[in-house]
Amino acid sequence: MKVRKIPMRMCVGCKELKVKKELLRIVALPTGEIEVDNTGKKSGRGVYVCNNINCFEKAFSSHGLERSLKRPVSSEVYDALKVEIENE
Ligand SMILES: [Zn+2]
Repeated sequence: MKVRKIPMRMCVGCKELKVKKELLRIVALPTGEIEVDNTGKKSGRGVYVCNNINCFEKAFSSHGLERSLKRPVSSEVYDALKVEIENE
């Protein structure tokens, strides 16, 4: 039997590997801007967080996004991310 490989990504909050589609992607665009990537297809360096508020809080307090993207993440980005999570 063939096993299809499911793309897995690590959440910066809980550090667990999750199925990509269960995660939210935050991307640092080639222009240097950082935004929440609703499509999952934007080019740039991506970082992932689970679609739940606990992981968001963890990522926020541990500065996981900043560390992964190697640049500061503005509060607007965090706000946009929080809105995404709360809209689910
Ligand atoms: Zn998580």
